[in-house]
Amino acid sequence: MAMPQQGMSTDEVFARLDEYRQDDLPVKGGRAWGFVYDAGPEVDAVKQRAVVTYLGKNGLDPTVFPSLERLENDILAIARDHLNGGEEVVGTFTSGGTESCMLAVKAARERGRAKGIEEPELLLPVTAHAAFHKGARYFGVKVVPVAVDPESFMVDLADLEAKLGPSTVLMVGSAAGYAHGVIDPIEAMGKLAKERDVLLHVDGCIGAWLLPFLAELGEDIPPFDFRVPGVTSISMDLHKYAYAPKGSSVLLFRDAELRRHSYFACAGWTGYSVVNTTMQSTKSAAPLAGAWAVLHYLGHEGYRKLAASIRDATRALLEGIEAQEDLRILGAPKMGLIAIASDTVEVFQLCDALAARGWYVQPQLAYGGSPKNVHLMVEPANARMAEPFLADLAECVREVKASPAEGPNEMLVQAAKMLTPEMVEQRFDELIAMVGGGGGEEGGMLPKERAGLNAVIDMLSTETKEALLKEFMSKLYRA
Ligand SMILES: *Cc1c(COP(=O)(O)O)cnc(C)c1O
Repeated sequence: MAMPQQGMSTDEVFARLDEYRQDDLPVKGGRAWGFVYDAGPEVDAVKQRAVVTYLGKNGLDPTVFPSLERLENDILAIARDHLNGGEEVVGTFTSGGTESCMLAVKAARERGRAKGIEEPELLLPVTAHAAFHKGARYFGVKVVPVAVDPESFMVDLADLEAKLGPSTVLMVGSAAGYAHGVIDPIEAMGKLAKERDVLLHVDGCIGAWLLPFLAELGEDIPPFDFRVPGVTSISMDLHKYAYAPKGSSVLLFRDAELRRHSYFACAGWTGYSVVNTTMQSTKSAAPLAGAWAVLHYLGHEGYRKLAASIRDATRALLEGIEAQEDLRILGAPKMGLIAIASDTVEVFQLCDALAARGWYVQPQLAYGGSPKNVHLMVEPANARMAEPFLADLAECVREVKASPAEGPNEMLVQAAKMLTPEMVEQRFDELIAMVGGGGGEEGGMLPKERAGLNAVIDMLSTETKEALLKEFMSKLYRA
């Protein structure tokens, strides 16, 4: 593909985009239990109009576009109220959960430096999102993994306390954790954080917006927000359960002093003075305007109604899954994030069987005491789909039980066991071929059925898995 010498017509451009989109996961219809959040066509229309209106504005400098300052302050005030923060709580609108989490890590590192900590450490439950590992690696902070209870998947407080040391700058709790929908014991963590003068970040990327609505509806949600002493920052994505355009999240800090550590300023070059609240400098204002528009369009009542539909669907799913004797739910999810494990059926095969019936579910590999499982994330469009999904799930369990896959053969097991990160580049094509993938340049690299591939990946060390993932990306982007 090269850039056309003569520009295409509008029709041609969009015909081509339509063609490219053919194999994408459908973002509408509720058959995807992950990735997409669909609050309906009215919300979409509002979002799209706001996005188009603000597409050309540059978030680099709010003094040039003062409306951006107003939009961000409005959103932050709403977010602060939602999480019971006082006037002293301040925040930043970011491009997503990952950026919010990373900036929390940066702020903690800078505060640690100011206190004389040279080799900062981050206490991270094994259930904490990968975004914190990313922040730690980008900003040179050492991750100290913390165990979780093998039944509840909440952080193990004794292990947390044992690992707290003089170099600890930050600990992280999730509300809720993506993998199991479980809320960590934030009050107990806050007490420990306060006693030891360590920062506590609550990762509410996926839960912090939704959980207060669920609490209002009568669900049993333990306090996790700024009411809890010791909580010093909270990340909350708006592009998840607030249905804002992708590229919308907020990071709230207990006070402005802590937030200052997340900022960047540079006057040491010949161009314009740079001061950034986020990692991006020039950035689109479209997500900001889209988020503002959706928050104001739906309002408290709108969000509560959507939360009720998610709650009802989640209840139906939990009951329906628990009633199937081959399946069990990991932990006790506080929101619509459900991890389904099994001792009798191969869960990766179950993912394939569901995919064949048009359902997208996420396979989660075994890690840190959490067995391999099938992950569901419930959003408004799936709410109507609980019953048909449960019926298909039961069928798929029967199907997989009746014809279990053989599993990786001895040769493959041996090859996987011997694989080291250094060998990945050389052995990649061979490995993919062994699990039925690698159909050439155009045929797609991955096999249509993924159970075999996932079973092999599940056997690798964390480092080898990471090397494999990078190699995969490197092959995917050929140009
Ligand atoms: C989604 C998520 C993140 C990362 O957010 P992105 O918006 O995908 O960058 C972090 N933490 C949790 C708990 C999440 O669910």
